[in-house]
Amino acid sequence: MASSFYRVKCKDCNNEQIVFSRASTVVRCQICGSILAEPTGGAAAIRGEVVEELTHD
Ligand SMILES: [Zn+2]
Repeated sequence: MASSFYRVKCKDCNNEQIVFSRASTVVRCQICGSILAEPTGGAAAIRGEVVEELTHD
């Protein structure tokens, strides 16, 4: 199964950063600390705006 990454934009400060689609820990914005993704046991729940999906094998 291919894993993927998302380029996620923070809704609070518009910072964009890369988030692993299956993040196992809460991912916070590096600028303002808002939650961008939360683990769900499978694919992470993305809380920001997904700008782009980056897939690779
Ligand atoms: Zn932010």
